[in-house]
Amino acid sequence: MTTAPNPHYPRLFEPLQIGGTTLRNRIVMGSMHTGLEDRIWDTDKLAAYYAERARGGVGLIITGGFAPSRTGLLLPFAGKLTNTVDVVRHSQLTKAVHKENGKIAIQLIHAGRYGYTPLKVAAGSEPSPIHPFKHFKMNEQMIWHVIRSFGQGATLARRAGYDAVELMGGEGYLINQFLCPHTNDRTDKWGGSTENRQRFLVEIIKEVRKQVPRDFPIILRQSIADFVRNGQTWDEIALMARKAQEHGVDAINTDIGWHEAGIPTIVTSVPRAAFVKFTERLRDEVSIPLIASNRINTPEVAEEILERGRVDAVSMARPLLADPDFANKAMTGRGDEINTCIGCNQACLDHAFVGKKVSCLLNPRAGRETVLTLGATRRAKHIAVIGAGPAGLSAAVSAAQRGHRVELFEGGDSIGGQFSIAAKIPGKEEFNETIRYYTRQLEINNVTVHLGKRVSADELISGTDAGTFDDVIVATGVVPRIPDIDGIDHPMVMSYADAVLGHREIGKRVAVIGAGGIGFDVTEFLTVDESPTLNLKEWEQEWGVSEDLSKPGFVTKPRPLPAVRTVYMVQRKPGSQGKGLGKTSGWVHRATVKMKGVEQISGANYDKIDDAGLHLSFADPETPSRVLEVDNVIICAGQESVRELVDPLTVAGVTTHVIGGADLAAELDAKRAIRQGTEVAASID
Ligand code: NAP
Ligand code: SF4
Repeated sequence: MTTAPNPHYPRLFEPLQIGGTTLRNRIVMGSMHTGLEDRIWDTDKLAAYYAERARGGVGLIITGGFAPSRTGLLLPFAGKLTNTVDVVRHSQLTKAVHKENGKIAIQLIHAGRYGYTPLKVAAGSEPSPIHPFKHFKMNEQMIWHVIRSFGQGATLARRAGYDAVELMGGEGYLINQFLCPHTNDRTDKWGGSTENRQRFLVEIIKEVRKQVPRDFPIILRQSIADFVRNGQTWDEIALMARKAQEHGVDAINTDIGWHEAGIPTIVTSVPRAAFVKFTERLRDEVSIPLIASNRINTPEVAEEILERGRVDAVSMARPLLADPDFANKAMTGRGDEINTCIGCNQACLDHAFVGKKVSCLLNPRAGRETVLTLGATRRAKHIAVIGAGPAGLSAAVSAAQRGHRVELFEGGDSIGGQFSIAAKIPGKEEFNETIRYYTRQLEINNVTVHLGKRVSADELISGTDAGTFDDVIVATGVVPRIPDIDGIDHPMVMSYADAVLGHREIGKRVAVIGAGGIGFDVTEFLTVDESPTLNLKEWEQEWGVSEDLSKPGFVTKPRPLPAVRTVYMVQRKPGSQGKGLGKTSGWVHRATVKMKGVEQISGANYDKIDDAGLHLSFADPETPSRVLEVDNVIICAGQESVRELVDPLTVAGVTTHVIGGADLAAELDAKRAIRQGTEVAASID
């Protein structure tokens, strides 16, 4: 029976055949390690996490990576599938997904030199630059053991009820390490020529195919752009894809960039769908389904990719973390209700890389579905939320979703708070999506919004036409800290908010005081003409993505556009700047300011600001004092909490909750703000 095409995203919601399995649509939730895979007592949480996404309508879930052999663990005691005891645990996951009519594939991964364990093995001698331990170079016996372990893993996966198996052949893990001269310096039959380097993967595919019936789907996660020196050439990648199809792989899920690559592949400043052209090129090589990935975060982008007809499905990992109902919302024409992943990495990959459990900055319930619930309240309360920044918005929407009557007061004339400022930073345009999401959620959850209303404690105590308030949530945020510097009132000085929001003209020579997250953001903003729409061509030039497909790894010399201003970034602490930035995004910010020629000055004392500029001296007697001859000084020196409502409300006996920057400015942080907003809403009953 043929069904009518979906009226909103016809291609996205077409079924897709992969081997003997039919997916209900073309949205694949890509593999993402959450940390819940690694501990047996977290199985319930992992099952609930997958079940929520299956209920949300995704076509196929691919689990985080599980090792098929003990030598392939991502870290000590990490998730694995090596025996029948493991099968019992995995069955719990597959049952939870099947109960919601979803499909689930397991990703089998061998970490190789990327294992965070002293017992790791790898293809060649090159050590891992991202993990401290040394590895053992594999001998022939170890190689065959790992090949057989993939076959066994697939057999066990089928027994556990998985609908397919994905073999991790990208991102610089073991299979990828064999494929690339960058890490494969072997001189035996497993290294050297292309055929020898590809032998390991070919043997794994043959072994897996031998162990599972022909209709059990095998998906290969294939690296189609390594972005490392001595990576694979396009001819090698194309040849490997053809061999994969020939030996029984049913779909290729394309993978971009190694963890050690010097080209960003997932952060928010990477243009949307930046790498789809690599996947599309593979269409000329194979006829099996191709899945595109990386920075695909809206149904519109996904549909456009599929419409072009060279890609069969899209993989989204983080967007499904941010909104488990992504698919159902898109399918029913409610795309504007999707909580769109902003590519910040702050609660997902930044957590994963320091061994913390993964969640989402925008959706603190991700990975905590069993502990942070937003069920209907037993008694609807009348709640005031003060402040429409991330903390206040999440509190207001979550409380209203639970059935409370919510009034939101905002002194400014729009919602968004610090997110409205962040959205003006080049490469952070995605933050507008969050404002769009909350605007819509306030509407559909009937929150009464008072914009331009700086509400007083007295008004909150006496209530509104709708009655007095049972609870008041203070999310009044922060004000920029004004440091005590001689000349701080000079007309050349401005706050970061004034600079970024375009309230003041900015000259060609600028000093930025403060080198925290906002100092870096503002510096990047100052080096470009005006917040540009993301331009893929320029972005590729800036980061050194090669057009020449015969170039191993497709890396070339970066050619950054020149900065439009001379910018100095100054901090009082000695040492390098930006150490506190995110694990997976900090290096991109540090590299960006460096490539733009920003002079970074540390260990400075701010002596004064006058017509000559910013006067600096240094504790280090070897460093002479200097004057930065600038037109403007922009203050990015942190923030202070706005809490003036708290005491009067508390004294008047009003149940008051303080969240976000109003609670703690020292760690002003959207992740905490949104989490606190959701948690406080969950707690009011
Ligand atoms: P921050 O990261 O705490 O940095 C504040 C900066 O101001 C520091 O460089 C500090 O350096 C300086 N400073 C502090 N007190 C000062 C004073 N009295 N006089 C002069 N300088 C002073 O704060 P932020 O930049 O406002 O960022 C706020 C939060 O948002 C942070 O949690 C940040 O991580 C997050 N954020 C992150 C990003 C990102 O990762 N890309 C972007 C935006 C915001 P010295 O004390 O050494 O001078
Ligand atoms: Fe996306 Fe940021 Fe959430 Fe990660 S933490 S899923 S990058 S919004």
